[in-house]
Amino acid sequence: MSKTLQAIRGMNDILPGQTPIWRYLENTFAQLLSSYGYHEIRLPILEFTELFARGIGEGTDVVDKEMYTFRDRNDESLTLRPEGTAGCVRAVLEHGLAGGGQVQKLWYAGPMFRYEKPQKGRYRQFHQIGVEVFNLPGPDIDAELIGLTARLWKQLGFGESVRLELNSLGSPEARANYRAALVAYLERHVDQLDEDSQRRLTTNPLRILDSKVATTQAVLAQAPLLQDYLDDESRVHFDGLRARLDAMGIAYVVNPKLVRGLDYYGRTVFEWVTDRLGAQGTVCAGGRYDGLVSQFGGKPTPGVGFAMGIERLVLLLETLQLVPATLEASPHAFICAFGDAAELAAAGLAERLRDALPGLRLLVNAGGGSFKSQFKKADKSGARFALILGGDELGARVVGCKPLRDDGEQQSIAWDALGDYLAPWVASVDDKNEGRHE
Ligand code: ATP
Ligand code: MG
Repeated sequence: MSKTLQAIRGMNDILPGQTPIWRYLENTFAQLLSSYGYHEIRLPILEFTELFARGIGEGTDVVDKEMYTFRDRNDESLTLRPEGTAGCVRAVLEHGLAGGGQVQKLWYAGPMFRYEKPQKGRYRQFHQIGVEVFNLPGPDIDAELIGLTARLWKQLGFGESVRLELNSLGSPEARANYRAALVAYLERHVDQLDEDSQRRLTTNPLRILDSKVATTQAVLAQAPLLQDYLDDESRVHFDGLRARLDAMGIAYVVNPKLVRGLDYYGRTVFEWVTDRLGAQGTVCAGGRYDGLVSQFGGKPTPGVGFAMGIERLVLLLETLQLVPATLEASPHAFICAFGDAAELAAAGLAERLRDALPGLRLLVNAGGGSFKSQFKKADKSGARFALILGGDELGARVVGCKPLRDDGEQQSIAWDALGDYLAPWVASVDDKNEGRHE
């Protein structure tokens, strides 16, 4: 196939074999968020480029190297969203959702776009579920956000496979002081730094702390620590968060080098990390961004949030073999019909059954075929019963009802009685495959 008729590199089709896992994750999370009082917001995928340039910040990898930016027919510079926070803040401001100190607890899900080198766990179109909270300044909500992600991991069965890393970035002033001290220190060792870090010395020096290069790491070992520059209020905030996590029984590691790639964070930052996915080990990341709303022209509004990468969570579920076996419920019944008249009768019968039994999962054979081939399809579908409708059954207004999951006898059931016959298997909406006969 010619290249331009294939999917763009790093942008994946999510095939039917995978979508049940995605839906499982999304549903689990949506239910969890709802139980904590969070509400969904749906946001555009395209925004003006300036929103991200100002929100995420020039000098960050995302803005400098990773954005999909283009001019539209009206010559406006637009960008496919690389993350959700900037757009969410814009929407909250635009609709006055956080006006007058109103608390908002929001979540969103959807595709994000970054021009990165595609590899396992890193794609150019990827998906996030994100949460943003406005107008709650205290560490209690930081702890709630971390607590609800911990609960999600518990529900998914991740156990000890993910760990929480935590840091405080302090106030903007504290960070500026620290940045100056860090730059002064690193400038004395500039020839030992890798090339990327040398460049970042002027553009985004805190990002150097993230470097994986051994020689740079060696220099960083003696570097000043952000912790020593924290302002008192941020220290109290951080202590409050840690006390709450302890009270909640949530283990964490303070990682003084955790700074996060985006400019807008201050005070709390955190990441959930796994060792089971190689280099792409961060499955969830977030932090506090009390300055972002005012940066967009709004009144000072505390904000805190996080985003998790769905692809990485799917990979982790698969790696740890935690995908539940029965994500897609099998059909209750599969109708096999032979001949034109029986096919017509089957079409009518199927509708009457669906009317009578809400929740019924019923497949009707399409495309004709021999008795053997239809029966094989019925069996392959996982259906509990094959409902057989041939010339004889048609004349007697019955179907042959053949159990496919046990070796029970085929029974002849009148059309009018079929609803009652199937009802016990359809009794509960989430009955999976476990039908019961009274
Ligand atoms: P990384 O350090 O892995 O590049 P990041 O700090 O750029 O991550 P965030 O902007 O914090 O990532 O996004 C939150 C989460 O979204 C990440 O923790 C990760 O799970 C996921 N994510 C980010 N970029 C990608 C990508 N290109 N492909 C798949 N998932 C991603
Ligand atoms: Mg990144």
